[in-house]
Amino acid sequence: MAAERSLKPDENHEKLFDDVFGLIKNYLVKYHERTSKVIDFKLPSELNKQIDFRVGDNGVDAKDILSLCDKVLSLSVHTCHPHFYNTLFGDADEIGLLGAFVSATSNTNVFTYEMAPVYTLMESQVFTQIRELVGWDVGDGIFSPGGSISNLYGLLLARFKQFPESRNAGNYGLPKMALFCSKQSHYSVLKSAIVMGIGLGNVTQIKCDLNGRMIASELDSELAKAVSSGIVPVAVVATAGTTVLGSIDPLDQVADVCEKHKVWLHVDAAVGGALLFSRKHRQSLAGIERADSMTWNPHKSMGAPLQCSCFVTKHQHMLAECNSTEAGYLFQKDKKSYDSSLDTGDKSIQCGRLADVFKLWLMWKHEGMLGLEKRIDWCMDLRDYFKDKIQARRPRFRLLVQEPDLTNVCFWYVPPCLDDLAVPGPTDFRIVSSERLNKVAPIIKARMVAKGNMMMAYQPLPGGVPNCLRMVIINPMSTKKDMDFVLDEIEALGHDIAV
Ligand SMILES: *Cc1c(COP(=O)(O)O)cnc(C)c1O
Repeated sequence: MAAERSLKPDENHEKLFDDVFGLIKNYLVKYHERTSKVIDFKLPSELNKQIDFRVGDNGVDAKDILSLCDKVLSLSVHTCHPHFYNTLFGDADEIGLLGAFVSATSNTNVFTYEMAPVYTLMESQVFTQIRELVGWDVGDGIFSPGGSISNLYGLLLARFKQFPESRNAGNYGLPKMALFCSKQSHYSVLKSAIVMGIGLGNVTQIKCDLNGRMIASELDSELAKAVSSGIVPVAVVATAGTTVLGSIDPLDQVADVCEKHKVWLHVDAAVGGALLFSRKHRQSLAGIERADSMTWNPHKSMGAPLQCSCFVTKHQHMLAECNSTEAGYLFQKDKKSYDSSLDTGDKSIQCGRLADVFKLWLMWKHEGMLGLEKRIDWCMDLRDYFKDKIQARRPRFRLLVQEPDLTNVCFWYVPPCLDDLAVPGPTDFRIVSSERLNKVAPIIKARMVAKGNMMMAYQPLPGGVPNCLRMVIINPMSTKKDMDFVLDEIEALGHDIAV
């Protein structure tokens, strides 16, 4: 007979908890220092030497666990580093991180009130306050595992509104459906089209202006064209903060077009939703209150730890009407101890759901409305500083968008070897579309990763636009000196490039 195993954490584990938390604290101190490395890039062959990934017959002891945790932290990308500008998420807010530890400790699922009483009420309050920010009196919402899934929620509701019978019959017997978004929208709209059986071929990507914003009149004519050929437009996805350029579609104009054609408007504000907190900048989201639904990722520009994404809608009961299947084993309607309408799980397309709300709520509670506003306003100020520096003093740097809407700043660095291309003034390299310029950003990126002291992404843009670098300012601890550092560093990495 197997020996009985104590289920109580033994003393060893108590010490291990202290040790691992000590490790985490040291890690955060070390990698918040600008002198440490952002990344110590290793190829798989080297990583395989550093960590034995295979699980053996016998387990490992506490000492090994500590050392494995240490290795995993030090060999991962240090997204908390002040010079990490690579993605639209980064340094996790420390209060939010504590929230992540605490909610992981309670290890529960937010599907019924019974299983998650505190988190259920917390979610409800957070959605009320998000609605207040947007300007909706009623509505509903759900935390989801990311902006892509939040966008899917919006599109699912849109189809349900248009064709309630699709819940039961699927797409069979329905007219051909189409989705509309801009050429700069997030690729999750395309993925939703696959998931929903609408098909990639039935997503119309509307042209953008030079600032990367959807052209509302183009949307109008594409919608009219679809309708006249018997296609039913199910939803328009406007983007408030596109992933690359950070552009905000003209929401009021897009809402006018949607009203005219009676189409559901979903606003993907995964990035731009944070502006709702800023009295100074929220004007650029004007019209968002006219949308039917919205995505917002607090794990992006707000610094909540991954994953933390909200889907919100002004349609009060529609999430449940669209998604519920009333699994009897979980969502009993004859619960004696509380009102079963408190159970949020059946509104979701998942079963179990993490208490992601706690990461956001705890940091929001700590900062207050004004703290989050300050955070956003500071990043926007730094964006201006960075952009002004490029425009006024850095002739080798060229902005793709002269007046960016958010804190993404996309630019080309033009090394001396391309001086034949670089006529003075704000040359539009979208038109130049140089094969040679296209090669510059990948070289800078490779040198950057090898050096390891900062990280920034590069990307091409639709229409053969040459690769550009994308600066993202979302860390409220960033300084003007950091902005100067970034420009100096790119110059240092790129000046001797020969293409
Ligand atoms: C990042 C992003 C998403 C997807 O969010 P995930 O949480 O990564 O799934 C959706 N829309 C926009 C505009 C984004 O930038």
